[in-house]
Amino acid sequence: MALAGRVLLLGGTTEASELARLLSENQPAVELVVSFAGRTGARAALPPGVDSRVGGFGGIDGLRDYIIAEQFVTVVDATHPFAGRMPFHAHSACEATGTPLLRLVRPAWTQIRGDHWTVVDDVPCAAVEVERSGARRVLLTIGRQELAPFAQCLWSTFVIRSIDPPAPGLLDDAEVVLARGPFTVDDEIELLQSRRIDLIVSKNSGGTATQAKLEAARQLDVPIVMVQRPPTPDGESVATVAEAMAWLAQRLGGQQ
Ligand code: NAP
Repeated sequence: MALAGRVLLLGGTTEASELARLLSENQPAVELVVSFAGRTGARAALPPGVDSRVGGFGGIDGLRDYIIAEQFVTVVDATHPFAGRMPFHAHSACEATGTPLLRLVRPAWTQIRGDHWTVVDDVPCAAVEVERSGARRVLLTIGRQELAPFAQCLWSTFVIRSIDPPAPGLLDDAEVVLARGPFTVDDEIELLQSRRIDLIVSKNSGGTATQAKLEAARQLDVPIVMVQRPPTPDGESVATVAEAMAWLAQRLGGQQ
């Protein structure tokens, strides 16, 4: 089915890049613009020839004006499950302009037999839980932006795994392991054993790229403090790129 129309894709995830690839390869009449916050090198994952822009829109009003000026007929919000503001901005801007909006977000992980999770609402709550647990050697796999609350954990030594180095002045005594997923279960077992980790802090990002740490923790009986996702606005939401393609097919008309 051939689709046509201007689509704004709020990117920064594997799913966004995959959707962009499918549209650019199969739907030449879809005029796609992929938008990035600009905090990582996610632009590199886009196929050549896909239009993109980088940087904030300037809040809800800025996004509303951009949608009107660029005449987008649909918006797909495929930002990260922990992007706290962009989904609300997209919701309000699309409501104001009457533009159909879809949230594409991968499913959260769920606990299975053998897991020992303590589920908390946010990163500051995770730091409270680390302190309460009395864990001595803690692996932080929450990125590098939200490390400050762990400075209060006086009994723990930290290993921080992140894609980019943390800013100086935050947990300066921690060991930093710079790495980008996907990781294998063997990689994760080696990391946990070599650093004698007795507690992991993770965000419930879902997906497969960083899922191996859950299996490694299960096998080694290491507990996890799991930060659950922030609230999201009401609206249409799908979990897979294939479902997003089907939604776009309905919105962008189409000819067999
Ligand atoms: P956020 O709290 O939802 O966004 C903060 C601000 O960044 C937004 O208000 C918007 O600025 C700008 N922004 C976010 N996503 C954008 C996009 N795709 N295009 C243009 N501007 C965007 O999100 P965040 O936690 O800062 O994350 C920023 C980006 O990194 C997101 O795209 C997200 O998908 C990605 N990311 C986040 C995490 C995480 O754990 N938080 C992990 C991996 C990737 P204006 O208000 O000026 O428009």
